[in-house]
Amino acid sequence: MGTFNTFILHQPCAHCQVEIDQHIQFKYADTWQHTYHLGDTLEWGGNQTGNPAQGLVVLDAATEDCPHCGHDEEFYVVFVEDNRLVGAAPNQGRFHFEGDLTYALLPSPEPWVDDLLWGYHMQSLGLSASSTERDLVDLVRSREQPSARKLQALDILGHRPTLAAETVLSLQELLAGPEDISHGVVTVFSRLTSDQANFWLLPLLQGQSLVLRRAALAALSRVNHPGGSQKENTRRIHTDFAVPATAVDVQDLFQRHLHDADPEMVTLVIPLLGSLGVPLYPDDLLRYSPHARVRAAFIQQVREQVEADLYPDSDLKTIWADVMQMLQDPEPAVRQQAALGLIPFVRSGAPVPRLDEENRLKTVEHLQMHFGAEGAREVRAAILTVARFSFDLPMAREVFLLGARHPSLQTRMDVLQEVEEAFQTGGAMPSYAFRKDPMIHQVLHELSEEGKGEMEGLQAQAQGLFRRRF
Ligand SMILES: [Zn+2]
Repeated sequence: MGTFNTFILHQPCAHCQVEIDQHIQFKYADTWQHTYHLGDTLEWGGNQTGNPAQGLVVLDAATEDCPHCGHDEEFYVVFVEDNRLVGAAPNQGRFHFEGDLTYALLPSPEPWVDDLLWGYHMQSLGLSASSTERDLVDLVRSREQPSARKLQALDILGHRPTLAAETVLSLQELLAGPEDISHGVVTVFSRLTSDQANFWLLPLLQGQSLVLRRAALAALSRVNHPGGSQKENTRRIHTDFAVPATAVDVQDLFQRHLHDADPEMVTLVIPLLGSLGVPLYPDDLLRYSPHARVRAAFIQQVREQVEADLYPDSDLKTIWADVMQMLQDPEPAVRQQAALGLIPFVRSGAPVPRLDEENRLKTVEHLQMHFGAEGAREVRAAILTVARFSFDLPMAREVFLLGARHPSLQTRMDVLQEVEEAFQTGGAMPSYAFRKDPMIHQVLHELSEEGKGEMEGLQAQAQGLFRRRF
């Protein structure tokens, strides 16, 4: 006689339809008469069957007699998702268990499993498992339900593999409602097929609500994935593939929002245009934007574009001068991006020399001086990164030493971080050369010499790195 566990699920008996506490027996995890309910996490160890696995596992199971009609099911299955009990149903020949195995991993959920999980989610909402999309839509539209529950219902709808046309239409009406609900609807729409998503989301960009405009733009960028090697193909997006005339030029669309009054919209659009290969320099409205986050996003994108060789050589010197000037920005986030923006200009052995050697020296010298005066930790960290990429220059090496002697513990930690990065991925020279470099040894030596108690973690890290130097 074997032992088993019991999953108690409140549901109608498949035979008499009376709602009962169905007792379902299965052999999986620690098999020792444990009793579980829906959503419980399985216990492991002891008399163990299987291994704790992520994903979806289906278990061979059987039900005990119905207290009303005495009916039992010999072939039943229980579903475990990420080690939690999420549902059970008659097997009906869909699952076969090899030999003595009492469980099987499901590589990908089948549609009807999805329905089961869907039923489970419905129960968590206080609905019966046989409820439909219509029920969920009604729930979202009802006046009585709290908005947290409505959002939960929207989330479930968003995870359905498909939605009925009437569901989409009903949801569309909710876009005019309260912002948290309409935001939830945007998320649901962003999971529709791309032509449908575009059809419903594009008009929102012209709307009144800032929350919706931002959400729609973020969703549109996810849906259409511009960039990569398919740049050309992603220029046009369709709102309805049956009607080619509804194609929209995505670059055009994003460009129209590049100087939006809302800085959030602009920071969303900048990387989108960047990924489409649209040169952003010189755009003085971005460069001198009153919003620091716009300036930071601009300079970050320009750096990527310089790295990608998007600008002619004749532009590089003015870009460089501008980036240098942005190191004086009052906002640390902008100075940080400005420092990082200098990497392509000082990188040793860059595929294409961006600057002549004299200006390269001047840049690193400037950064070395700036490092001592810089008040923000994140900017100092960025300068350390630049120094790693220009480590062949004495001034860059000096930055590491200044960092190791800096009064800020955080900055000394950042030095270690940078040394670790150099050991792993290199910089101005390959990682093995960093490991053998006497200046790096000196830096690690200084950092591991400190005698204060608060420094123990730092010391241990520095000593650990020191041991890895050969
Ligand atoms: Zn029954």
